[in-house]
Amino acid sequence: MEHISVIGAGTMGNGIAHVFAQNGFKVALVDVHQAQLDKALATIAKNIDRQVAKGIISNEKKSDILQHITTHTTIEEGVQHAALVVEAATENITIKLQLFQQLDKCSPQHAILASNTSSISITKIAAATNRPDKVIGMHFMNPVPVMKLVEIINGYETHPDVSNTIINLSLQLGKTPCVVNDYPGFIANRILMPMINEAIYSLYEGVANVEAIDTIMKLGMAHPMGPLQLADFIGLDVCLSILEVLHKGLGNPKYAPCPLLINMVTAGKLGIKSGEGFYVYTGDSKDLLVSNRFRH
Ligand code: NAD
Repeated sequence: MEHISVIGAGTMGNGIAHVFAQNGFKVALVDVHQAQLDKALATIAKNIDRQVAKGIISNEKKSDILQHITTHTTIEEGVQHAALVVEAATENITIKLQLFQQLDKCSPQHAILASNTSSISITKIAAATNRPDKVIGMHFMNPVPVMKLVEIINGYETHPDVSNTIINLSLQLGKTPCVVNDYPGFIANRILMPMINEAIYSLYEGVANVEAIDTIMKLGMAHPMGPLQLADFIGLDVCLSILEVLHKGLGNPKYAPCPLLINMVTAGKLGIKSGEGFYVYTGDSKDLLVSNRFRH
């Protein structure tokens, strides 16, 4: 497998392109916006500099990695040589279903079509194509160059050979693959999101303040960051939409999103990306600053 296409050049797409290129694959990175592609290349260059500074890769390797990536604004051009397409476009079911119909039409017959979706059913995405046996979930974690896990999701019709190809490919990228079946939230988010939701409920019910909740989980459970900080990092809108998928898909009231989370998203407080969530992000301070709203 030589040619990989990555669809969507946002947070995840640039990391996925980076990791494939670093491991010698030819990557075609596709986005509808040229500005996103330019930004992605700049981010990749910056992240490579970090790897060079840490001694993970040599300086000569930098231009080599960047030379392995081409950018495209149309699917037709971007997937024409692909043996594997990894879709990392916006988490929206209408966008994904349309995209997979288009990918099915434009990519070579033998190509595997993978989605990096956090919560949308792989079986549903596969059903939009004429090759459901070649559709699979390849769920990288953020930040992709750093995080070791790839959660591999077998859809109802994913062929075992396709699953094995993606397992081996993940190993080739230096990642640790874990295979799961296609049910709402898969494993990572089915376990993570109820924890985040419970942390928000604890704040909402006044059991403890933001700092106490995050410090207890950080120091008590050896988590690298507390659940409220993590929710800000992921994006509160993303957390809400995954909880809605769990709630609707599994039909259990225990997954109902906390009313405080719903209010925050409605008010546009989305975490780091909007500058405020449980904490405020001014850009100048390295210290975590709890949002005024939650200071007592
Ligand atoms: P993002 O909003 O940062 O980037 C999405 C990109 O997709 C944008 O640049 C947008 O222009 C592009 N796009 C939208 N429609 C397109 C189309 N039809 N063709 C080509 N490009 C298109 O999103 P993200 O955070 O990188 O998330 C991407 C996917 O990865 C989602 O499915 C998300 O659930 C999943 N994911 C995200 C994270 C995370 O921490 N952000 C972690 C794991 C998985």
